[in-house]
Amino acid sequence: MLTSEPIADAGPRFIGAEIYRTSSYGGWHPLRVPRVSTVMDMSRAMGWLPRDRFVTSPRAKPAALAAWHSPGYLDALVRAEAEQRVTDETRDRHGLGTTSNPVFPEMYRRPATAAGGSILAGELLAGGGVIYNPAGGTHHGMPDRANGFCYLNDPVLAILSMRARGVRRVAYVDIDAHHPDGVEAAFANDPDTLMISVHEERRWPFTGGLEDQGGGQVFNLPVPRGFNDSEMRAVLQALILPAVAAFRPDAVVLQCGSDALEEDPLSRLALSNNAHWEVVAALRPLTPRYLVLGGGGYNPWSVGRCWTGVWGTLTRQEIPDRLPVEAEEVMRAIHWTGNSRARNPSPLLFETLRDAPREGPVGAELRARLDELEARVRAMARVWV
Ligand SMILES: [Zn+2]
Repeated sequence: MLTSEPIADAGPRFIGAEIYRTSSYGGWHPLRVPRVSTVMDMSRAMGWLPRDRFVTSPRAKPAALAAWHSPGYLDALVRAEAEQRVTDETRDRHGLGTTSNPVFPEMYRRPATAAGGSILAGELLAGGGVIYNPAGGTHHGMPDRANGFCYLNDPVLAILSMRARGVRRVAYVDIDAHHPDGVEAAFANDPDTLMISVHEERRWPFTGGLEDQGGGQVFNLPVPRGFNDSEMRAVLQALILPAVAAFRPDAVVLQCGSDALEEDPLSRLALSNNAHWEVVAALRPLTPRYLVLGGGGYNPWSVGRCWTGVWGTLTRQEIPDRLPVEAEEVMRAIHWTGNSRARNPSPLLFETLRDAPREGPVGAELRARLDELEARVRAMARVWV
C-alpha cells in the first residue's frame, strides 16, 4: 500500500533522451522518421519546455526489464545489438531480425531507454503528478519476443513499476490505431487493471474484438475506417470517461499513439489532433497520477504536431493559430521520403499546430457497439463500488 497520499503536484514532467534523434530502424522502415526529437525541439521552440520540466530518460538494465520480459529474450536482444545479426533460431524464437523488428545499431539501447523512462515514471508518480514519455507506448512487445515494431513493452513495465510502489488500481487507455495485444497479454485477467482500447477494426494484430472481455474489466472498441473527431468524442463521453470514473483509479496510463490521425500512412482512421488533445485533457481530473505515453505514428509532421500539442495540453498552454518561426523551422527541417504522403505536404503542417477539426456523423454501427460497452460498464460499476 502507499505509505503516503499523493503530494502536491509539482507540475508535469517530460521524459526524453537524445538517442531517439540519431537512431533509425532502417531506410525503408516506417520508424525511419524522427518523432520524439521533433517533440522535444518543437516544445522548446514554443517555450513550453523549460529545463526544470525535462527529465533525461535512464536506460533500463536487463534486470529491471526482467520484471516482465524473459531473461532468455533479453539476452538475445542484447546479443543481437552487439553482434548486429541474429541466428535463424533467434529470429524464429524471439522475433528479432524480422522486417518489422529489424536488427539496427541501437536495437537494445533505444527501447531500453524508452522503457527506462516509463519505469522511472512509475517511480516518480508514486507521489502523484503528471508525466509525459512520448518515446513510450510500445504496446505490442511480448514477454519473450519482439512484435509490431516493439522490442520491449514499456506500458506494462510502467504499470508494474507503479505497483511495486503501492499503486494498485490502474486504468490503461489506448487510442492508438492498433490493439495493444502485449498489454492485454499482461493484464487481461487482472481485476485491478481497467483496460480500454479504441482501435481500427480488421487491422493487425487482429486481436481486441468487441467480445473479448478478459476478466470483465477489458473494453475493446474496434472502429471502422474513417473514424472522425465526433465519433471519438462520443467514445470519450459514453465509454472512456464513465468507465475510468467508475473504476476510481489510483493512476491512469494513456497510450496516445498518433497513427489514428488522417495523415498517417499505416491506418485508415480520420482523426484530427484535436481529438487526441481532448482525450488527454478529459482524463486529467479523474486521477491523482497520470502517465501519458506515445505509441504509433508514422507521418513525421503529424506525429510531431500531435505530440507537441499533447505536451501543450498537459501544461495548459494556449495553442497559437500560427507557429513561431523557430517551431516552423523544426517542422520544415524534417525530411520524409519513400511515401506518397510525403509529396506536396500541406503548408498548414509547417505553419500551424492544430489541425482543422474533422467532425462528422457518428456511425450507427459504432453507436451500437458503444451501447453494448456502456451496458457492460454499468454492470462492472456495481462490482467496482
Ligand atoms: Zn499503432
